[in-house]
Amino acid sequence: MKYYSLSNGDQIPGLGLGTWKSAPQVVGEAVKQALALGYRHIDCAAIYGNETEIGQVLTEALNQGQVQREELWITSKLWSNAHHPEAAIPALKKTLQDLGLDYLDLYLIHWPVVIQPGIPFPQTGDQLLPFTEDSLRGTWQALEDAVDQGLCRHLGVSNFSAKKLEMLLALARIRPKINQVELHPYLQQRKLLAFAQAQGILLTGYSPLGSGDRSASFKQAVEPQLLADPLITEIATQQGCRPAQVLLAWALQRGTITIPKSTNPERLQENLAAADLVLTDSQMAQIGKLDRHYRYVSGDFWALPGSPYTVLSLWDGE
Ligand code: NAP
Repeated sequence: MKYYSLSNGDQIPGLGLGTWKSAPQVVGEAVKQALALGYRHIDCAAIYGNETEIGQVLTEALNQGQVQREELWITSKLWSNAHHPEAAIPALKKTLQDLGLDYLDLYLIHWPVVIQPGIPFPQTGDQLLPFTEDSLRGTWQALEDAVDQGLCRHLGVSNFSAKKLEMLLALARIRPKINQVELHPYLQQRKLLAFAQAQGILLTGYSPLGSGDRSASFKQAVEPQLLADPLITEIATQQGCRPAQVLLAWALQRGTITIPKSTNPERLQENLAAADLVLTDSQMAQIGKLDRHYRYVSGDFWALPGSPYTVLSLWDGE
């Protein structure tokens, strides 16, 4: 497994397990199998609605000595209805309670979007509040307090453009270590990657396999099929591996963290094994040409009529 070092010497496993859409009664078994296979990095979020079941499995594995807490990297995310400074630490404590942990390795602001308190997901634009420098400062200071209290070791963000990262860097006492964004050959985000690397921030790539199990409401009518891309399948044939493994090896080889989701035992194993696959320079260069700035998670669900957000303002046109 490839590990990336953080400034304090902590190490994050380059390949982790995604858990969005991993259903109740299924997610626990998937995490159990993943730990047995050797996964040590689990990507969670309060809004995924499955942290309690994941927590039961983590508690069991830790109590049985199957893994030590120091070997695990557990990420979770602050949902958008808890950005208020007084709501952020209680939200983190709820996640810790659900996951059965004393601390998180990484806590991310899930989206640069603010929802009115008490509303899980907005149905109308007026349930959204503007995300501003002031709102970010308040949220971040609360998260910095959480680090001081030992509730999480590192802070980060998700779905932040380079412009929003710059805004954060200007006000942060504790710097963000990670920005989790969509990354795959159809959305390579080279400028954002270069900016993040120059700032010592790692990028974690979500939806690395094209997120094919999103519900219809999150999908466009017609979407490009990353796993069936002719170049990706051709390279898989050349390497004698699966297309998903090509996508994951590409992500690791360009210096990003990748968090494929699976609840299927064979695919969990297949995905983890991708960490040992080495693509040639020529294969990397060919995949580099597949970029088409295509987002599977477009963020259009925030751009409701009357919302302070548009798709353009969300990504700052990047
Ligand atoms: P993904 O990992 O790109 O794709 C998941 C889909 O691929 C599932 O249908 C899965 O099915 C299938 N799959 C897994 N391994 C496969 C393989 N080896 N061959 C063929 N198909 C395979 O999508 P994602 O869940 O959107 O992204 C991964 C994780 O990133 C999420 O679970 C979540 O933790 C995180 N994420 C974060 C954000 C954010 O806003 N920060 C947004 C999106 C995602 P099976 O389960 O049946 O194997």
